[in-house]
Amino acid sequence: MKQQIMTIQFDDVTMEEAVTFAMDSIRRGERCRVVTPNAEFALEAKNNPRFLNILNDSELVLADGISVIYASRIVGKPLHGRVTGVGFAQALTAELAKAGKRLYLLGAKPGVAEQAARRLLECYPGLVIAGTHDGYFREEAPVVEAINAAHPDALFVCLGAPKQEYFMEEHGGELNVPVMAGLGGSMDVLAGNVKRAPAFFQKAGIEWLYRLCKEPKRWRRMAKLPLYLWDALMWKGKGAN
Ligand code: UDP
Repeated sequence: MKQQIMTIQFDDVTMEEAVTFAMDSIRRGERCRVVTPNAEFALEAKNNPRFLNILNDSELVLADGISVIYASRIVGKPLHGRVTGVGFAQALTAELAKAGKRLYLLGAKPGVAEQAARRLLECYPGLVIAGTHDGYFREEAPVVEAINAAHPDALFVCLGAPKQEYFMEEHGGELNVPVMAGLGGSMDVLAGNVKRAPAFFQKAGIEWLYRLCKEPKRWRRMAKLPLYLWDALMWKGKGAN
């Protein structure tokens, strides 16, 4: 079920429901574009109608950040909970492996997607890695060609936002892949180069604090979190839906 939190229409789903939806799309051969908006996405979308349209036109819009959950409560439309991009990537990969499906990994610095592929194959026997490509390419056409030649069932696009959403929008029609998901920095996590916060931080909704301590240079990006919550308060104050 879609739930509009300010301008973005989120899917109010659990992780299991999200993965089932994506797997059903693969079985039916239907297109499913997955996006994972957080506070940064929402602030970008405020002044970027193209980006907002791509988000709202996607079949699965997952609430990636805890800030989205707080904002949903502030505006009086509480979402179930977070469905993080990296959690979704892992859960979907597990199901792809069970079904012997093909996954293509696109994004991050050279070598990272291959490293992620090796780790995923260790964790999920039965998975087929259809191919990998780094995220620093000049020409998009050869990348699209390589993906199509590999015949994947699912494609993880990890180029950062909004680049990954633009890539999926521009090439969605020519890419012969049922499920494509924009998953930001997930490739670095899947490769083991970036560690997710310990379970305590995740459960307490302070994964951002852990990340800030590990990567202090992200503070500028994280400063957007309170701005987004401020927007939610203003939205509520205006009585908008
Ligand atoms: N990236 C890429 N191509 C680019 C720009 C970025 O492949 O042209 C990758 C980058 O190496 C990183 C990911 O995209 O792996 C974006 O990470 P970011 O920290 O922005 O994402 P977040 O953690 O916020 O999801």
